[in-house]
Amino acid sequence: MSCLFCQKGTSHFSRLEPVVDERQTHIFPTEDIVGNSLNPFTEIYECKDCHSIWWIKTRGTGDPRSTYPEFYEQTALLIDDHRSELIRNPSISGILKNKDLSFPYSFFEEVLEILKETKSEELKTLYYEREPSLPANVKRWLLQWFQKHFPLEFQTIQKQGFPSSANLLLTLEEDEFVVVSEFIAKEQFAFITSKKDKFFLQSYDLTDQKILWKISIRKPFLEGLSIPILFYQSGYLCSYQGYQKGSEYYPKLNRPNTLCIYDLFGNLILSLPLAFNCYEVLSTEERDVSENRISHNFNFTIFDDLLFLPYQTKIQVYDLKSGKLNKTIKMPAGEIFSGKAFKSESENILFHTLKGILGINSSGAIIFQYLSSYHPVFIDSQFQMYYYYAIIESANTGEKKTLKQTTESGISLVRELASLPVEFPGGIYLSFSFDGSLLLNSEMEIIKNFPFTATDTLGPHSFGITKTPTIVTEDRIIITNDFSGIYMIDFSGNVLLEKSISSEVLSVFTFDGKHTIVLLSFHDDYSNKIQTELLLLTPKGEILAQKILTEPKGLSVSFDGICIFSEHNQMFAIDLFAEDDSL
Ligand SMILES: [Zn+2]
Repeated sequence: MSCLFCQKGTSHFSRLEPVVDERQTHIFPTEDIVGNSLNPFTEIYECKDCHSIWWIKTRGTGDPRSTYPEFYEQTALLIDDHRSELIRNPSISGILKNKDLSFPYSFFEEVLEILKETKSEELKTLYYEREPSLPANVKRWLLQWFQKHFPLEFQTIQKQGFPSSANLLLTLEEDEFVVVSEFIAKEQFAFITSKKDKFFLQSYDLTDQKILWKISIRKPFLEGLSIPILFYQSGYLCSYQGYQKGSEYYPKLNRPNTLCIYDLFGNLILSLPLAFNCYEVLSTEERDVSENRISHNFNFTIFDDLLFLPYQTKIQVYDLKSGKLNKTIKMPAGEIFSGKAFKSESENILFHTLKGILGINSSGAIIFQYLSSYHPVFIDSQFQMYYYYAIIESANTGEKKTLKQTTESGISLVRELASLPVEFPGGIYLSFSFDGSLLLNSEMEIIKNFPFTATDTLGPHSFGITKTPTIVTEDRIIITNDFSGIYMIDFSGNVLLEKSISSEVLSVFTFDGKHTIVLLSFHDDYSNKIQTELLLLTPKGEILAQKILTEPKGLSVSFDGICIFSEHNQMFAIDLFAEDDSL
């Protein structure tokens, strides 16, 4: 008995059998296709006469809307010479050459099972090289095999697991781990560590290579909204500590209960309890414009060594030089300070409130007030308010502009903002849920329409997401969209980068106002650790560096592009502008 190719020159064949019992895959004969053949791998048959190789598989098929298959279909394909070579002579170089070609699902694993007896050293090299384009099941097989046969070497890799060009900065105590880090000067960073149930805030100098100071702190805010818990603002180091339960059922609503302000030498200036309060938009009429927006009361502003903090219906102003309460500003009825304050050129102070703007002069008199009926998600420097349903209202003129999208059926719908608007000199960038984004000039005229948009962080279904998917640098806007793409545009709307991604964007930021860092969640089948992919983008839209690092805990980047990160009880530094990138 010979195969169909020997008999009639046929190279493919298929047949159907109706499903009788969906628990049992129908077993088709193979003899009438390939005769009395060899079966070296699952679904692979070799004719004993002409030695041609066939791939014979059985799959369920039928109406795609049906849950169960209606037919079992057997298909047989004559495999080309190129792939046949690997089947006849399994080799590592053959896997690498054929990695993108289609084979039965378990084929590569079966080849590896054969090779492991004789090619152990070559397989080890293959694992160390971590060729990124190999099929996922090859990577997983190599990981499991390596872990089992070289446990000590595997442990060493687990401890490193990042580019060899990284320098060890410091080693903490055995059970001390980095929670978060933040640069407070070009060469200095502060970081919080945990050791069992104790927490410390300390600072390290990159030039002197030593810890400058270390103090004990309360537990930082880690059990709720994912907001920065250690950050630099206007010459001070700020930290949220402790937490207050926001909801019995939804821990994401927990919020910090203490704001601590330190000077850059680790001296605590203020420790302020944050009143538990948030303000929800609830009225039906308001929802048509604002949706169910929540404003938190823990945002604040520091300038001129003054801290402006919302407190009930007041603004508390603390003098950070003395650490004393300087004054309390009582808000007009209906106004609540949002935490954002600005100083104008004429020394007046503008406060963003929950529903508008309040301007006071140096002697405390109200000089400007705008109270909207609705809750804006953003107010720009021209006093234009942006609502969740894309309506823009000018506080200067009271004029409103509604951004609509006309569907194919001719219905015009108000668009919804996906993320906070991004203001740049000369205009504003707006991203919408599902359907693209716009670049507007300062007259609110459309400069450009883009098919892409940003991660939805404002819509009701994105409840609890606090990240910023879109940022502006000196002359660029960088837009990120989870599991979709990274985009860079200039202020005229020219697209400089369009890169598709299949992972979550953990954060996007600039460290010098020019270059952008995008951190992506990264899963590599060669490893079973949580990892992060770091991309360094130039203003031209080029990817200057691409690194696989440890999980993002304790990761930050200095003004000069020195990236620090932690692993176990150690901290490392890597120069993102350095050429070397050996893994
Ligand atoms: Zn044959």
